[in-house]
Formats: sequence, structure tokens, C-alpha cells
Amino acid sequence: MGGCGSGTYLRWGGRMTVEDMKPLRIGVLAKDGWLHSGRTSKYSWTVNGEPEGDIRVTARDGHVRLNYRHRKGGDWESKNYRVRIEYTPCHFGGSRPWFICPALGCGKRTGTLYGGTIFACRRCHQLAYPSENESRRDRAIRKADKLRKQLGWPPGIFEGAGWGKPRYMHRATYQKLATEYEALEAKALTETMAWLAMYRN
Ligand SMILES: [Zn+2]
Repeated sequence: MGGCGSGTYLRWGGRMTVEDMKPLRIGVLAKDGWLHSGRTSKYSWTVNGEPEGDIRVTARDGHVRLNYRHRKGGDWESKNYRVRIEYTPCHFGGSRPWFICPALGCGKRTGTLYGGTIFACRRCHQLAYPSENESRRDRAIRKADKLRKQLGWPPGIFEGAGWGKPRYMHRATYQKLATEYEALEAKALTETMAWLAMYRN
């Protein structure tokens, strides 16, 4: 195995880690050896330095088992299920692991699962809820994505910032775009959170 395309910026302690959207990134699990069969690891999220939930990940051949508790109303509910892992070859050797989204009827490959009641791909979380708020959210996401493209970063605000300056770009331009991006990303995420909160239990 041996990962490739490392450089995903991790925002474990940042604004992503609210109740409904805990990211679990396979690149990080792979890098830290969490995907080795037989290994059990515990991952926790924090918000402003305060603990905000954790999850136990047990690796077996071809899957990981997720074990965590989720608050449902006032009660805690235990969750325990498998998520399949697949590997695809990288362009320059090595292979890259993917989660297979465990949501019913999905089964798509994804690098990041987002936790709430279940850990599922971004698409599933969005499809799970019809939305009224979508246009504002979509607009912010679209603008942010446009800036990502200008910056030469991979698409998707959930990929985070911090991918660095493209070689051809002046530092001043980069700084301006990156700052602009950060603001847009914050807005897009805020809209997403507000939108999810509307549908919370
Ligand atoms: Zn999915």
C-alpha cells in the first residue's frame, strides 16, 4: 500500500467539527497505519480544544468497523457497522484507499465520510434532506469552488484550504485569493450548518 497524493489539509479542531459533520478522512487513517488489519484505534474530534465526540475504528481485511455513540434527542445510541475499503492504483505508483459509503443505496467511493447519525459521503448527507436554504448555500459553495480552481486546488470546500500557492502565481495574488477563499469557505460552511440544523431531529 503506501499512500499517494498526501497533502490533504486537516481541520480536526476547526469549524468543520460540529455535531452533525464530523469528518473521517481515509488519508489520515492510512497515514497513521489505522487500516492495518487487526488494529483498533480511537479518533476524537475537538471544537475549540473541547472534546466533541470520538469513534473507534477497527480495521480488518477490506473493511473498517466503526463504533461510536450518537445522541438522539436526550438519549445516546450505540452504532456499530462496517465500512468497506477499496484501493485504486495511483498514477505514480502506490495505491490509494477509499471508503465505500455505507449509506443505503449509495456504495460510492469517497475519501471522507461525514458523521452524524451515520457516517456517509457528502453527497448522501445532502440528498438526505430536501432543502429550502439550498440556493444561498449553493451560491457560496459555487463561488468558493471557482476560487479553488483559480488557486489550482482540488474541487470541494470539504477538501479544506492550505493546498499552497501554484508555482506560476505571484505571492500577493495568492494571498489575496486565499484570503478571499477563506471567507467564502466560512460562509459556505455556515450556510451548510444552518441548513443541516433545520433538519436535525
Ligand atoms: Zn454516499
